[in-house]
Parts: sequence; structure tokens; C-alpha cells
Amino acid sequence: MLTREDMKTDQKPYEIDQQLYQRFPVTNQAFAIVSTRDMGEPSYLGFLEKMHQNLGIRMERGDTGFSREENARDLGANALNLILGSYGFPNHQFLQWKSLIVPEPLTKNPVKSSPQELTAMVKKTAKLYGADLTGIASLDQKWIYSKDMEKPFILTDEGEPEEKEDGFYIPKTMNRAIVMAFLMDESKISQSPELEASVTTSFGYSRMGITAVSLAEYIRALGYRAIPCMNDTALSIPLAVDAGLGQLGRHGLLITPEYGSNVRLAKVLTDMPITVDQPVDFGVTEFCENCYLCADDCPSAAISSKEQTLDCKQVTGNSGVKKWYIEGEKCLTFWQLNGASCANCIAVCPFTYGFESMQCFECKGCAERDRGCILQNNTQYKVKNGYLHQSRWAERGEVLSPRRGGF
Ligand code: SF4
Ligand code: SF4
Repeated sequence: MLTREDMKTDQKPYEIDQQLYQRFPVTNQAFAIVSTRDMGEPSYLGFLEKMHQNLGIRMERGDTGFSREENARDLGANALNLILGSYGFPNHQFLQWKSLIVPEPLTKNPVKSSPQELTAMVKKTAKLYGADLTGIASLDQKWIYSKDMEKPFILTDEGEPEEKEDGFYIPKTMNRAIVMAFLMDESKISQSPELEASVTTSFGYSRMGITAVSLAEYIRALGYRAIPCMNDTALSIPLAVDAGLGQLGRHGLLITPEYGSNVRLAKVLTDMPITVDQPVDFGVTEFCENCYLCADDCPSAAISSKEQTLDCKQVTGNSGVKKWYIEGEKCLTFWQLNGASCANCIAVCPFTYGFESMQCFECKGCAERDRGCILQNNTQYKVKNGYLHQSRWAERGEVLSPRRGGF
């Protein structure tokens, strides 16, 4: 079986057209586009109103998977998310860019430890605070949003991270992103698009908030600066790819070797001099090229069945990175009709259930191709990427253990 060490690559596992790529504004995120469409003015969470109306109708009607009890479980799971950071707004609620409780003598007095020691301390503490995987990336400025709902993010040569009247200021010395993945409950995700899947998503957000806020305070208490982020401030998925947590899948989500896409992501930006992790390549792109499960099972037809492209046709995507672009507006419109968020693309992805499921997963692609199942034919590919032990003629190939240890 391939270890994480074997998966490491010097190359970024994506292609980018530097001329075409522009930093992305939050106002173009699908959440903002659908909210603004519905509410008539710029907003981020306005799309929830229609979703909650339909949730009420479904509960009233007694639809399976939309009971009062399931809704209560979702609300309980979401409570700390809404208290700490509400999915992520910069310098808001508990996601403050300055210390919450650490006194100034500590924040101004950095500990003198080696980068390796600091890195080990941060990873150990992130794990203790609840992160299931932690990776560190050099903060690529192109992944920082160009603007939030109103103000731009401005990179400065000096100063403190702070929000001013005219923008959010981030010093360029804050050049590290600690990216953390939080495992969601597989059995709940597999009930998507019912409310139980939303329960584990909501709880994932609550855990993200607790860990990001706590880790930022820990870093400040060691004398360095820290910006805790949930979905805000910078794009989580490319940072996670750079930090070696996984690769991007056809469904537009991160796929980790350990848990597939069944994770939520948070990050802390810092100037602590910690060492970066290498990206990994464990064959996700090639696998997705031959697997259409998420595209076939998406109730809104938002996932591309075509080739990867550099050119995104929707405002909700950002051209310049070669990938499969999602039609985010279609996706969220389904959430609204459904009365709850959807995670079908996570639920059907073979990586969610580990490498055992890399055998036939009934995508029906073989019926449409005259060469049969590409994955089943391509034994060498599966051996190379650690899904299968090579077997001699007439022996049955052994499928490898689904879970790896992580960082
Ligand atoms: S969340 Fe649901 S609707 Fe959205 S892309 Fe995934 S499968 Fe499609
Ligand atoms: S379901 Fe298949 S195509 Fe979609 S992300 Fe997972 S492996 Fe890739």
C-alpha cells in the first residue's frame, strides 16, 4: 500500500493559467449569487430563507427524513457554528483577527523554537483541538479572496492583520496556512439529501469553529499572529491541496487519501515560521476521468461529465485552473427545493468509503463504452496508486486497507 510519503510530489497536482486566473471575489460564490438573486441585494446567507420555508413544508407534510426530531438534531449540531463564526465571515464573531483572551505581553513575545519544533507543536495541538488531518501550505496569495461582500482583502508589506473602513489588511509576512480537515459521519452523509446528512455537515462546521478559534489563540499565546478562518478570507480547497491534504475531484471537492471527500475544511493563517508539507498525488484525477458517479447522482445536474477545462462558463467559478467546474447556482437551487443541504456527491464517491470500493462501483460506464470498464481493465493503474496488490496469474488481487494513518 502506498504511504503518504509515497504520494508526495514536488509538482502542484493541478494546472493553472497565470494570465487567466484572477483572485476570486466572495460576491461570486454560489451562496452569494443565489442569495442576491432571491433577496435582491448582496447577501451571503439569504438563500437559506427559501430552503427553510421548504423545510417547514416538508416537516408539516411528514416527509421521510424531515421529521421534527431530525430538524432538532440539525439545529443542535449547528449551534456552535452559528455562535462562533456562522460558516465564516472575516474578523467576525469569534473569528477575530486580534487576540480574544491572550494578554499582550505574550502576543508580543514570540517563542524561540526551531521551525520543525513549532510545526510539531502546531500539528499536535490542532489534533488535540479536534482536527482529523492537518497540513501546512505556503500561503499563495492568489487563493485569498479579492473581496468580501463589501470590502477588499489588501495584502500589505507591514503592519498587523486588521479590518479598516476600506478593507481587510493582511501582512504578507503571514505567509503560512494551517489547513485542517474534519471528518464527517459516513452513515449520516450516506442519507443525503435527507436532514441527517445536514446534521453531520452542521456539526462539522461547529467543530471547525472551535478548532480554528482555539488554534489561533494558541498561536497568539506563543507570540505569533493568527487569522482563524472557516469558509471566509481564502479558498479552502486549493489551500488544502497545496498543504498536501488531498486532491481535487470531479465534484469540485477535496478528496483525501484517508477519508475521501467526507471532510469539512478550516484554516488558520499565520506568520509563525513553520515548515510546509508537499502536495500529494494518489491518482485522483485519473480515477475521476473514468468515474462519473457524482455526476450521475447529482440531483441538479451541476457536476460536469465532460473533460476538465481552464474556462469556467459560470460566474460562480473562477477560470484559470484546469478542473471540472461545478454549476453552483443549480446545486444551491436544489438545496432550496430539497429543504436541506445536499451531499449526494460525497455520499456516492468511492473515496468516501475507502479503497475497497475501487472495485466495480456500478457506474454503468461499461455499458456505454465499447472497451468495458476502464478501471477494472487498468490493474497497473490501481497497483501504482496503492489500491491493489499485484497478483500473479489466476490469483485474486488483494484490495488494500481503506484507511491510512494521516499526518
Ligand atoms: S451537493 Fe448535491 S446538488 Fe450539489 S453538486 Fe453535490 S450532488 Fe449535486
Ligand atoms: S464520484 Fe467518482 S468522479 Fe466523482 S469525485 Fe468521486 S471518484 Fe471522482
